[in-house]
Amino acid sequence: MKRIAHWIGGAEHAGTSGRTSPVFNPATGEQTGEVDLASSAEVANAVAVAKEAAKAWREASLSRRAAVLFKFRELLADRAGDLAAVITSEHGKVLSDAAGEVARGLENAEFATGIPHLMKGSYSEQASTGVDVYSIRQPLGVVAGITPFNFPAMVPLWMCTTAIAAGNAFVLKPSEKDPSSALLLAKLWKEAGLPEGVFSVVNGDVEAVNALLTHPDIAAVSFVGSTPVAKYIYETGTAHGKRVQALGGAKNHMVVLPDAELDAAADAAVSAAYGSAGERCMAVSVVVAVGDVADPLVDAIAARLPKLTIGAGTDPSAQMGPLISAVHRDKVAGYITAGADAGATVVADGREAEVPGDGYYLGVTLLDNVTPDMAVYTDEIFGPVLCVVRAGTYAEAVQLINENEYGNGTAIFTRDGGAARQFQFDVNAGMVGVNVPIPVPVAYYSFGGWKASLFGDTHMYGPDGIHFFTRTKVVTSRWPDPGTSSVDLGFPQTR
Ligand code: NAD
Repeated sequence: MKRIAHWIGGAEHAGTSGRTSPVFNPATGEQTGEVDLASSAEVANAVAVAKEAAKAWREASLSRRAAVLFKFRELLADRAGDLAAVITSEHGKVLSDAAGEVARGLENAEFATGIPHLMKGSYSEQASTGVDVYSIRQPLGVVAGITPFNFPAMVPLWMCTTAIAAGNAFVLKPSEKDPSSALLLAKLWKEAGLPEGVFSVVNGDVEAVNALLTHPDIAAVSFVGSTPVAKYIYETGTAHGKRVQALGGAKNHMVVLPDAELDAAADAAVSAAYGSAGERCMAVSVVVAVGDVADPLVDAIAARLPKLTIGAGTDPSAQMGPLISAVHRDKVAGYITAGADAGATVVADGREAEVPGDGYYLGVTLLDNVTPDMAVYTDEIFGPVLCVVRAGTYAEAVQLINENEYGNGTAIFTRDGGAARQFQFDVNAGMVGVNVPIPVPVAYYSFGGWKASLFGDTHMYGPDGIHFFTRTKVVTSRWPDPGTSSVDLGFPQTR
């Protein structure tokens, strides 16, 4: 059985806390490893090493930092298959999906190669007579990332590429459920020439998280996970004087208007609801069928479900793998029961799917006639369960989304450009798709939701990521002629 250690000062470090957590292969139910859980003292050691490394790294020239990012990007591309295999072995998602995750993370490395341009400040000559004013961006020092199980490579890459390129040292606390991807990333950073200590991994649970949130030398915390934890991270981190961005859970609605291309909408709903077994923060979990599109749309979605293949992520014919754990699978199955008991129509029941072996499998579920008071609507299920809510009008559909607790992504399917434009104007969500079901922004925009899907005010990666991981300084400068110098107690003015 594999022992999964920490990564500190450019090398693996076996944990000393005496606490570990089991790691499983969700496709078989077998325990494959044991991950060390860091104590507060081990976190403090990692932060101390990172602090030393940060001092030298911020002095590295922009072109040197860019060179490391270029090399890291090449290594990531070369080792994408290995990384995808590691993801599948601990997360369970199918290999093609894992490769997709790596590809999206790689885009963040590509964005960060442009760091010399991204760090540019502004310059105003002659703001007053003989006075120039300019702004510069500087790194924060040591920053931390705390990440969820569902994207064990992509979400760390959202954060660390930008943070490191900007001149910070980055300490990652990955999910204890699938921690091995983080260690492979650490090795790639080392191979890319990143100085020791600039990228560290501390594996752990609540104790490690609390140690990071309260450590005086951690300047900022970037978090992705569930909403209750995101809120806790934001409140605790900011109470300890840190800059925090904490992305939470989601309930993403896909509105289908009566004029939509029906087959394309059904394909999109099925892909976005059941891909990665619904364990995506941008998964479509609610289809809002407007008007008389509802019956044909539900039929079209239902017709596609028997053709989906479920199996181990390593099986090239499988489209959907297992869930992350037995506990989570049972929780999701419980929601199907709750939905039926509350009066939803069970069009397809995932509990009936049979996959041989002890993997954490659940088939796909389609619930129709779901209403906003049902738990299957209000809660983030995070599994292969798609709810259909029927709305009489476009206005009702938008009201539903805007009254929902979450505001991560949303999408509209229509042939009417005016309706789509109105939707983009009206809807309270951070990421909007027009005939695109999973509108994850490309790396040169930024990713983030609204409402209970994000605590803090900067989105992740892209321009917001640079903003989050740097602070600006504004310099007012004069090179006076000593002959013109005089005492003046008045407030500085430019006119
Ligand atoms: P989670 O909140 O359970 O865990 C996330 C991280 O927080 C992990 O590193 C975990 O060790 C740590 N953690 C867990 N409980 C904690 C606690 N009580 N105190 C301190 N730290 C704690 O989330 P998860 O189950 O790993 O991931 C799934 C969730 O993440 C879903 O809600 C999903 O929507 C969300 N998510 C959101 C986004 C987004 O961009 N908004 C992206 C991916 C996942």
